[in-house]
Amino acid sequence: MPRPLEALIHLDALQHNLARARQAAPDARVWAVVKANGYGHGVERVYEGLRGADGFALLDIAEAEKLRRLDWRGPILLIEGAFDARDLEWCSRLGLWHTVHCEQQIDWLALHKTEWPHHVFLKMNSGMNRLGFTPDAFRNAWVRLSSLPQVDEISLMTHFSDADGPLGISRQFEVFQRASHDLPGERSLCNSAATLRHATDPAVRGDWVRPGVMLYGASPDFPEHSARHWGLQPAMTLRSRLIGVQHLKAGDTVGYGSRFTADRDMRIGVVACGYADGYPRHAPDGTPVLVDGQRTRLIGRVSMDMITVDLSALPQAQPASEVTLWGQGPDLQGQPTELPIDEVAHHCGTIGYELMCALSPRVHVDVRAPHHD
Ligand SMILES: *Cc1c(COP(=O)(O)O)cnc(C)c1O
Repeated sequence: MPRPLEALIHLDALQHNLARARQAAPDARVWAVVKANGYGHGVERVYEGLRGADGFALLDIAEAEKLRRLDWRGPILLIEGAFDARDLEWCSRLGLWHTVHCEQQIDWLALHKTEWPHHVFLKMNSGMNRLGFTPDAFRNAWVRLSSLPQVDEISLMTHFSDADGPLGISRQFEVFQRASHDLPGERSLCNSAATLRHATDPAVRGDWVRPGVMLYGASPDFPEHSARHWGLQPAMTLRSRLIGVQHLKAGDTVGYGSRFTADRDMRIGVVACGYADGYPRHAPDGTPVLVDGQRTRLIGRVSMDMITVDLSALPQAQPASEVTLWGQGPDLQGQPTELPIDEVAHHCGTIGYELMCALSPRVHVDVRAPHHD
């Protein structure tokens, strides 16, 4: 029998979250961001749930190829653009739109031989200081691009550093507007946080939004707002079972480094899931875990293949009891339970994004069609 650990991908949740993105940005088209192999869910697995999007945005040409092989004929955007001149061959062959964020990418385009002029997204660095032309260089880049026969459409984009926090987007938005207001072309500015928090303003919303993490059912601004607050449903469940139970006496310790010491007699459960599966090794004592749909806590250091959990309040729990590491729990007397990935991540000092992206290839993944039990 295989290890009882598995990840479930919920297609109905992906569809629901995509609809939430549309609702948050009415009239805008939606790039479903599927970089990092669909935020760890698998591009091919999420495709069925997200094919209602207007396009897919990603970084790897290999992932774009997968989408074309799945027969996706619509737009695909490379959000970091070409990494070398030869990537443009692939863009022509696969019909990919690509970001242009530096002069060198324009040089490559100018030398590129193609019968199919490209649709490019010219990126402005409006303050994030990662990729993009400075506001001063932006216009010149636009003029250069618009003179190239290799280019037939130029859209404008930028990316916010603080859409999820108190700083907000206003400064970057003003910089973007000032440097681009009289240039033609469609606009794309919003990631998930900006889509949910700032896209009520049609100018911020632009023509295309670029939600990523919200599509997978995590909140872009946890703990200020939970996924539930935003009406999002978890698209990934990581679940396993108890494979052992131990009875501790007061003073006994658990696991490597004896991190946890029992202060009284207690029962603990051993779960088939460890850091080699993508569960964060730095998870502290107290990180929430569901056993039989009931909340308990991690105790002791995370091992490669196992974790240990407190069963003090769960007398019915025994080997084979169901464990939810994050996502949707089992129905408890008809009540579906949930352990938000954001909460687990928060205990570990990270964000839901990192946990979902880190799901290990050794974990068996099962795709659940809509309305599956
Ligand atoms: C990753 C990414 C997004 C999506 O970000 P989320 O926070 O996951 O919504 C949007 N735009 C760009 C340029 C990105 O790199």
